Amino acid sequence: MTLISFSACAQSPTKQKTNTTMEKNNPYYNPNRKEAVVISEDVWKNILSPEVYQIARQKGTERPFTSEFENSKEVGTFHCVACGNALFKSTAKFESGCGWPSFFEPITKDAIIYLPDNSHGMKRTEVECGKCKAHLGHVFEDGPPPTGLRYCINGVILTIEK
Ligand SMILES: [Zn+2]
Repeated sequence: MTLISFSACAQSPTKQKTNTTMEKNNPYYNPNRKEAVVISEDVWKNILSPEVYQIARQKGTERPFTSEFENSKEVGTFHCVACGNALFKSTAKFESGCGWPSFFEPITKDAIIYLPDNSHGMKRTEVECGKCKAHLGHVFEDGPPPTGLRYCINGVILTIEK
């Protein structure tokens, strides 16, 4: 009995380890490195958790209202979890109610790449990480002042640095 409960205890911290912590063991995660990160899909697949890989490299979308960042009021800078690129300041975050973390502007113009996305019968603008080209989400023109933009971002691809 004692042994069983000990082993259960020993295992639980591993299971509860969050995405964010796992992703920080990624050798390509470096907020101080500005150069583009260009590595093969196979390497990404080995480094990223399946959830992050599916969003970042396969343009997936996380289920709405599932991100810890959707309603969080944490103060800091949101970085790309795959490469560490700074993307958004918490001061640019707002509650859109759309189900995903939303921002009205990126931290710098170069932080993000914009691409037309005509999939699913919609005309949208996809946003990718400017450093590693991870898919982040989409930008819409129904955001608040001063920009009028709403960057609708998958929380899975974000990590906050305080
Ligand atoms: Zn990135």
